[in-house]
Amino acid sequence: MRLIDRTWDEEIVPLLADYVRIPAKSPDFDPDWAAHGYIDQAVAMFVAWAKTKLAAVAGASVEIVRLDERTPLIFIDIPGEGAGTILLYGHLDKQPEMTGWSEGLGPWQPVIRDGKLYGRGCADDGYAMFGAITALLALKQEGKPHPRCAIMIEACEESGSPDLPHYVEALADRLGEVFLVVCLDSGAGDYDRLWLTTSLRGLFSGTLSVSGMANGLHSGDASGVAPSSFDGLRVLLNRVEDPQTGKVRVDDLHVPIPEARVKQAGAAAEILGAALVKRFGLHAGVRPLSDQPRELVLNRTWRPTMVTIGFAGLPDPKGAGNVLEPGVAAKLSFRLPPTLDAGSAAAAVKQVLEQDPPHGLRVKFEIGDAATGWDAPAMAPWLERSIAAASQAEFGAPPGYMGEGGSIPFMGMLGARYPKAQFVITGVLGPGSNAHGPDEFLHIPFAKKLTAAIARIISDAHAAPRDE
Ligand SMILES: [Zn+2]
Repeated sequence: MRLIDRTWDEEIVPLLADYVRIPAKSPDFDPDWAAHGYIDQAVAMFVAWAKTKLAAVAGASVEIVRLDERTPLIFIDIPGEGAGTILLYGHLDKQPEMTGWSEGLGPWQPVIRDGKLYGRGCADDGYAMFGAITALLALKQEGKPHPRCAIMIEACEESGSPDLPHYVEALADRLGEVFLVVCLDSGAGDYDRLWLTTSLRGLFSGTLSVSGMANGLHSGDASGVAPSSFDGLRVLLNRVEDPQTGKVRVDDLHVPIPEARVKQAGAAAEILGAALVKRFGLHAGVRPLSDQPRELVLNRTWRPTMVTIGFAGLPDPKGAGNVLEPGVAAKLSFRLPPTLDAGSAAAAVKQVLEQDPPHGLRVKFEIGDAATGWDAPAMAPWLERSIAAASQAEFGAPPGYMGEGGSIPFMGMLGARYPKAQFVITGVLGPGSNAHGPDEFLHIPFAKKLTAAIARIISDAHAAPRDE
């Protein structure tokens, strides 16, 4: 599909480079996003391109929908044939800068190197709208029919999509019966095949604070008598997680893993092999949490984990005096099995942390954001065949199926609203692409092939028996 290659090279890559320059951070990271106007700037740029490209497509519409004070949403409607709607999803808000970018690279500085476009947001998830429209235009050029397609690009995903349910509600009548959801905001195990995300983990965060007294004490005077709140914190963390193995000790956070998912994890582990660990760039001699690749896949997709992501209460080592700290606090981030209710998981952890505090220390666990994960419904035979054929045609290899460790809040919401819908969850976030971290990149050749594969699947959806 020449049109896809050409559109990527001549239009999409230059536009995404401009988009990298816009610090369109998600509201959680830029509470003044409305006044700053960066999100609106990105929206305007996306919409301008979409309108130009779709100007000649009969009945197509591109609009910016705005509800109250919420982040805007781009809604694109491309009429098609037959009953039902395909919903294609992506987002344009970004993660914050993060430190550690390599020499010559930076979050708001587009750089093309070895077929990769570096910069914040290009892979997560700026490319999505461009890829979706280009896939449809390629079908039109070839004269291939497709079902009606609606594209939704939100601007609040990196903040947990709080605005999105309101838009889905507001647009529900116009969306009609969604029978296929194509989400372009996920990961890829490698760049050699089409990857499908079979599940997403849930999550919740919380702040654990431990306090023993009102003021710091001379450590020479008080140690051995007054309990250390830092030690109390260590005891509490160990209650929840075994620090030797990383295994979460709260039984309520585990679920039995479905047999089919265990099998797929084994197949994915076989494809990926050493790359599973290599992409994380561990120091020489540092070992992963298991030497069994399949267990590593299951650890990051179906088992709960806890990571300490923030800490307060101790001074910087350079300025530290001999003081027993009065209190400490840690922010904890939990990832949960796809099928586990996040609210009850958070409540279970709160109970374990707050009961029977060591030395009677004052302990409080304040629960923050929580979102339940998602496990894909059984795939319809037509879609499984279509995905296999698309991967073979565009990549020359069969597809890979794997759960993702991250979360896309929207998927659970859609699964509940359209229980009969099928899901194609995929994306360009392959090894090294490092969304959320430094040196984020978009693998351009992979993005082109993915665009072509999506076009094939949309085309197959036209002829698919909807009730198969
Ligand atoms: Zn994303």
